[in-house]
Amino acid sequence: MRLSRYFLPVLKETPREAQIVSHRYMLQAGMIKQASAGIYSWLPLGFKVLRKIENIVHQEQERAGHIAIQMPTIQSADLWRESGRYDAYGEEMLRIKDRGGREMLFTPTAEELVTDIFRAHVTSYKDLPLTLYQIQWKFRDEVRPRFGVMRGREFYMKDGYNFDLTKEDALHAYNRHLVSYLRTYERMGLQAIPMRADSGPIGGDDTHEFLVLAETGESEVFYDSQITDLKLGARDIDYDDHAACAAVLDEFTSRYARTDETHDEALFNEIPEERRRTARGIEVGQIFYFGTKYSEAMGALVDDGKGGKVPVHMGSHGIGVSRLLGAIIEASHDDKGIIWPEGVTPFHCGIVNLKQGDAEADAACQSLYDSLTALGLEPLYDDRDERAGAKFGTMDMIGLPWRITVGPRGLKNGVVELTSRRTGESEELPPADAVAKIARIYQGIA
Ligand code: ATP
Ligand code: MG
Repeated sequence: MRLSRYFLPVLKETPREAQIVSHRYMLQAGMIKQASAGIYSWLPLGFKVLRKIENIVHQEQERAGHIAIQMPTIQSADLWRESGRYDAYGEEMLRIKDRGGREMLFTPTAEELVTDIFRAHVTSYKDLPLTLYQIQWKFRDEVRPRFGVMRGREFYMKDGYNFDLTKEDALHAYNRHLVSYLRTYERMGLQAIPMRADSGPIGGDDTHEFLVLAETGESEVFYDSQITDLKLGARDIDYDDHAACAAVLDEFTSRYARTDETHDEALFNEIPEERRRTARGIEVGQIFYFGTKYSEAMGALVDDGKGGKVPVHMGSHGIGVSRLLGAIIEASHDDKGIIWPEGVTPFHCGIVNLKQGDAEADAACQSLYDSLTALGLEPLYDDRDERAGAKFGTMDMIGLPWRITVGPRGLKNGVVELTSRRTGESEELPPADAVAKIARIYQGIA
């Protein structure tokens, strides 16, 4: 993409309404525009990152054997009456009437609708296990929408639902989700720590939230510092292997890590003092096993193969896809702007032409652009007739991890400059070597 032909409405002024850095930078970098409280339009740069994140989520869901569907945002109240949640949900649910006076709602989550799909089409244990998921806009009329996309009213969420014959199978689905979520966040350059959460009326320890540590997080968290050493890394866990998935759960829950909802001061104090940490975190996902709550209420039964009919065991699992943009920026920025991890960056590298209109510099930029594009990479070429300082400022703000700077002086010596946004380190090298280096960096990522 050439910047002169792109739509990147970078703000010169610091937006005053933003209280936290991710919100401020998303506005300043022209990623989003507020439409009304807690509701945003996604401008090209923001939308590009949103799609990158969404793609990673899809890929990791598919890898875990989960099947994508798409359910409507507007749903009938009748279904929600069957589960009892139409009345129980309260003010967060946006209720709508159609022209016939029928009560509808904008989906805050979709357990009812997915259970309705299941009960209409699945009758036998032979069709299990089954996990259906979607990535879809949700609406929750939050009391205090704030922090930009972090706590929106409209937000984009991956929600998945597993259907299993037995509790044991459903707990495997739970563990499988835990593994796939860890992998998903790591691909985005994030460390999200699974923490035991409050399972509400269901009891047991079968819900975990995934938290990204950040000063601006809304949750207070308590953990053993050793947990931050744990990584899934390149391990290739077989998602059908119950023991292997359970082992990952055991590993990641072997260290104390809880939110204030489930915090146990006595247990916490058993950790050696130098390892005890109190911090803040951003919830980027949650997994849940809730057994037969919806399947019993809504009659989602299957033949058990022994002549009987049994309600299926279920769980639900969510990832805050739009919130993740905020969480990634909170975890990765400096005072000049965003620093995108390679896995989610909107463009793979920036090309800055220091002397637009200079025949040699223009040709060198164009050639870099073509080489990178031919390799399947997406460069953003700042071809505007602007001062170098302004070009660098824009690149730093929008946070592309790599920048190639091209100027007549370097070209005389046959070199361009390659700069890392994260470290600020630069090296001079021939254009072809810069391209090769960027290609190597993105191998297996782009
Ligand atoms: P919270 O406690 O932050 O209100 P929740 O526990 O109600 O979230 P879930 O139902 O677990 O949310 O939804 C799954 C994920 O969707 C959350 O982990 C979070 O990342 C994201 N999410 C929930 N509410 C919002 C919101 N208002 N804006 C943006 N993302 C949200
Ligand atoms: Mg939650």
